[in-house]
Amino acid sequence: MNGRRDPAVHISTRQFSTVPAAYENVTDDRVTPPDFDPEEVLHPDDDRFDPENVAIVTGAASGIGRATALALAANDLTVLGCDVDDDGLDATVARADELGLAGRVETVAANLTESAHVDRVVARAADAGAVTFLANVAGLQHIDPIDEFPTERFDLLHDVMVRAPFLLAKACLPHMRASDGGCIGNMASVHGRYVTADKVAYNVSKFGIRGLTQSIAAEGEGAVRAFSVSTGYVKTPLVTEQIPDTAEQRGISVDEVVEDVMLGQSRTKEMMTPLDVANLFVFGFSKHARHLNGGDLLFDGGMTLTYG
Ligand code: NAD
Repeated sequence: MNGRRDPAVHISTRQFSTVPAAYENVTDDRVTPPDFDPEEVLHPDDDRFDPENVAIVTGAASGIGRATALALAANDLTVLGCDVDDDGLDATVARADELGLAGRVETVAANLTESAHVDRVVARAADAGAVTFLANVAGLQHIDPIDEFPTERFDLLHDVMVRAPFLLAKACLPHMRASDGGCIGNMASVHGRYVTADKVAYNVSKFGIRGLTQSIAAEGEGAVRAFSVSTGYVKTPLVTEQIPDTAEQRGISVDEVVEDVMLGQSRTKEMMTPLDVANLFVFGFSKHARHLNGGDLLFDGGMTLTYG
């Protein structure tokens, strides 16, 4: 196993990855991500899970994206992880090396709001092998009511979670069509099915990514499949970081955010782990999901389809 990263790009990530002071010293097993456990990785039998084939994973520096990069590498694929967080990408490669995964993890720093960076990601993936899989995972959150919601934050969330997946799909499709086809998995959310207040940009983006998924399926002619993944709250920094804001917005405590807001409507009183979600991408990319095309893998513990 050898991990490589692109030293040519260094982008500051401060605006994306600060942990709010209110939660800095709080450790809570209900929301703290567990270590990636290679024993828990799904291993479908699939000839396309081969080092010749490349899986691009966005948001690979943290949370679900990192777990997805590691799980796909554990399945013998060559992974090209990208993220705006250079240090986080290094940590992903270090973890892959430590685990001695079958496939190699390469990384490229990229700000997905920049079209040129997106193109560079796909070019690097094509250098590494046949561009066969794309997992659009990168994302961020902003909490504010509509009448106070900063428009530039609305645009940023949309650019990262809808525009970049569109640009990546656009650039990957010719590669996938020119070889044995491919598959694009998009990280949506329960917020792509129903919404909560004060998350307008996130809600709109997640509804949008489901539309993009179905559009790719419509044009993929069966050779290129697409699917989305919708989960409730997953133990990642994105969730940890929104707890203080949610508590403030609703005028409730941190504990009440976890118990009532995050787990309140779920019948399964345990948050998913990043690897639980990564395994959905592994399954969705595999031949066992060949009839999954345009569909949404809703794994939300019963959150959106039950009531009372
Ligand atoms: P995370 O914060 O751990 O990881 C998100 C990654 O995206 C970070 O590494 C960040 O640097 C990267 N990113 C943000 N802006 C970027 C940009 N401009 N260019 C490149 N990279 C950028 O969050 P996570 O919880 O792992 O979230 C991953 C995805 O899963 C997001 O799309 C999120 O909406 C979705 N999701 C998360 C949950 C959850 O509960 N954690 C639930 C449903 C859906």
